[in-house]
Amino acid sequence: MHMLTYAESLTGYKRLATLEVKVGDLLLGNFNPIRIQTMTTTDTMDTIATVEQSIRCIEAGSELIRITAPSKNEAENLLNIKNELRKRGYTTPIVADIHFTPNAAEIAARIVEKVRINPGNYVDKKKFELSEYSDAEYNNEIERIRDRFTPLVKICKEYGTAMRIGTNHGSLSDRIMSRYGDTPVGMVESAMEFLRIAESENYYDIVLSMKSSNPRVMIQAYRLLIQYMEGELGHCYPLHLGVTEAGDGEDGRIKSAIGIGTLLEDGVGDTIRVSLTEDPEFEIPVCKNIIRSLPPSPPVERAGVRSPSPQVERVGVREVGNIGGKHVPVVIADLSKIEKITPDHLKEVGYTYDVETDKWNIGDQAADYIFTANQILDFALPGTLKVITYHQTWLTANDKEKYFPIFDGQQYLNDVIERSSNLNFVMLDCFSEGYPIIDIARIFSKLKKDKTAVVCLSSTNANAVESIRKMFIELDKKDLKNPVVIICDSKDETMDESLIHYAIETGALLIDGMGNGICLGHHFGNKNVFTDLKLLNSIAFGILQATRTRISKTEYISCPSCGRTLFDLQETTAKIRAVTNHLKGVKIAIMGCIVNGPGEMADADFGYVGSGPGKVTLYKGKEVIKKSVPENIAVSELITLIKENHVWVEDNPSI
Ligand code: SF4
Repeated sequence: MHMLTYAESLTGYKRLATLEVKVGDLLLGNFNPIRIQTMTTTDTMDTIATVEQSIRCIEAGSELIRITAPSKNEAENLLNIKNELRKRGYTTPIVADIHFTPNAAEIAARIVEKVRINPGNYVDKKKFELSEYSDAEYNNEIERIRDRFTPLVKICKEYGTAMRIGTNHGSLSDRIMSRYGDTPVGMVESAMEFLRIAESENYYDIVLSMKSSNPRVMIQAYRLLIQYMEGELGHCYPLHLGVTEAGDGEDGRIKSAIGIGTLLEDGVGDTIRVSLTEDPEFEIPVCKNIIRSLPPSPPVERAGVRSPSPQVERVGVREVGNIGGKHVPVVIADLSKIEKITPDHLKEVGYTYDVETDKWNIGDQAADYIFTANQILDFALPGTLKVITYHQTWLTANDKEKYFPIFDGQQYLNDVIERSSNLNFVMLDCFSEGYPIIDIARIFSKLKKDKTAVVCLSSTNANAVESIRKMFIELDKKDLKNPVVIICDSKDETMDESLIHYAIETGALLIDGMGNGICLGHHFGNKNVFTDLKLLNSIAFGILQATRTRISKTEYISCPSCGRTLFDLQETTAKIRAVTNHLKGVKIAIMGCIVNGPGEMADADFGYVGSGPGKVTLYKGKEVIKKSVPENIAVSELITLIKENHVWVEDNPSI
């Protein structure tokens, strides 16, 4: 494994030390609690609607409220909004969201507690031109930025206003794109240009963000940013974490939890926003669940030096059956709580039995293995599905091509017992307290030679990610190449909490290339009640999709909507999802406005962007294909566009 550090500790939870920034009365960074925030979706000119939505968010737990200020009028109206909020007794700091209009930023900075600018479009109008810049031309551009940006810095200094320099992967300037491309380095450099100017004016009340709709890119950019700040400036600014255009429902929550949670697990991040295509107050419980799932905070310590690469990955993993090697990660469905498994249960995990043809239909999200504990099934299984049972039960199975045993550490060390000649699973609990001491050194030396063993790692520790990661590091030190399945059990009270728990605990490892499969289990309290298998299966595939390790469904990139949104984004997203959700691997962006939408839809294959009241513009990649399409026919026009590009397939779940 290529294991380099970017955080104080990869195996224990410690927060990154940052400067402290005051936003109104709220302190950010420097080990203050991780702050929760969201953004209004109302028209900023509608004072009362914006105030009332802000209050709903504050009551739900938002500690900062961001409001869009696309032009001078909205920026000026922030004063009315602020006054009305204060009149109603709410002192929550307000953040003005600025794109393209320095004038609006300069007005807002005199009114609200914080302004957010996007370095990709604060001064530059994006033309999507990829011309080469000579060093002189590049430096001229930087000077142009200095001229346009310095007045804002001076106003912020004078009024005690904080600032977020918020880079978005999808909206980097042409200048940055020409030199660094659409990369994490480009994102970091884009922010550093502005940071250097701010520091040259001795202004330090800055928070930074590096958002992307792809959690993998987002995580790398934040890690890299920390290295740049430490290396060049000798200190870190507080970090605002978020995954942009995450979408809605389960997928939006999974993507956000993986992106934000992975960094928080590494002690990185001082304020978070979950962007969902839902009403903003629904974002707050997701933020709370993400923070809740963190390990208990240790005593405050100054973070140490980070080494240059943000990448970690496990390489050269052995292939055992369809696990490891070049295979995508497998999904193991836990059916062990079901007393009598029937074909109907398999339907929940992607296999539908058709009585007439006597055939199994296999869905795109069909689990690869089921764990039945002590059950041998009394019906014929789908061809691609295999079963894992405890060793004693496996001994009684007739079909040793389909059934495979799982051992605990002690059993595995027992040389006398029979095992599969193809595939054996070995459970290891990673450094959990109270776990019987087994001879780990002997297990390691046996695993090293064993070409049939797949290791299953779990941890009941509060800091499970760090414990499992520590085990990966141990495996690497001993040069063990066995594939690893991550087992994640949840005892959370609700499925919402569990979903966040699963996404962070497995996603934080998968995103760094650790893990060749996952198995999610659920226990409600102490009751050990079997729960929604279908949902668990869909969460497992959702996590693999969000970490880009296994693509099994359509990807939606939809903006959270704001005061600029030109149609009902939630309803439109649902409509588009209903007709396209069988297009495996296709990325469709649904964006509320033409000003920021095209820039922010990142690497989407097709885009549906609001371009005027009742009008939609359709994109193929970043290219405009159909302009001003009436909204009532826009979804069918989108389908036509997908068909014209030969990406369409008919919706037929059977294979
Ligand atoms: S893309 Fe969506 S969230 Fe972004 S500015 Fe436009 S409408 Fe608002």
